[in-house]
Amino acid sequence: MSILKNPGGEMNRDRYSELTKILEERRREITDQVQEKIRDVRTDDNAASTGVLDAVESSEADIQDEIEFALIQMKAETLHKIGEALRRLEEGTFGYCFECGEEISERRLRALPFAVCCKDCEEARETAQQRERVLAQRRGNASLFIDMHG
Ligand SMILES: [Zn+2]
Repeated sequence: MSILKNPGGEMNRDRYSELTKILEERRREITDQVQEKIRDVRTDDNAASTGVLDAVESSEADIQDEIEFALIQMKAETLHKIGEALRRLEEGTFGYCFECGEEISERRLRALPFAVCCKDCEEARETAQQRERVLAQRRGNASLFIDMHG
């Protein structure tokens, strides 16, 4: 259904199909997990409604259900992100480093499909953040003073 003549833009065809594969595999995997979870939750509900569980067990089951539900929600969000990533891939904007514009390696994208930076930039950023934290700690007293005076 794509109206784009050249999906992936200037991207190398091999890389384009490899990245599509990575994203689609991930999507299938998560869709399967979600369906499995939904089945599990339904099974639990049946057990609870037959009165087999006592009060304590059923409240534990409630907590378990909440955790399961949160997990399903998280996975649904991931599915949404994958959809977005596939759309960006079509546009030819997926898989490039946000910082330096270089291609993010396929190996890195396989491990972290939503990585927005290449490894080098990510590491540089982490180092900068660490330095920032140390500086913020050192500035602790000074910033309290500034806050007091608006
Ligand atoms: Zn980079």
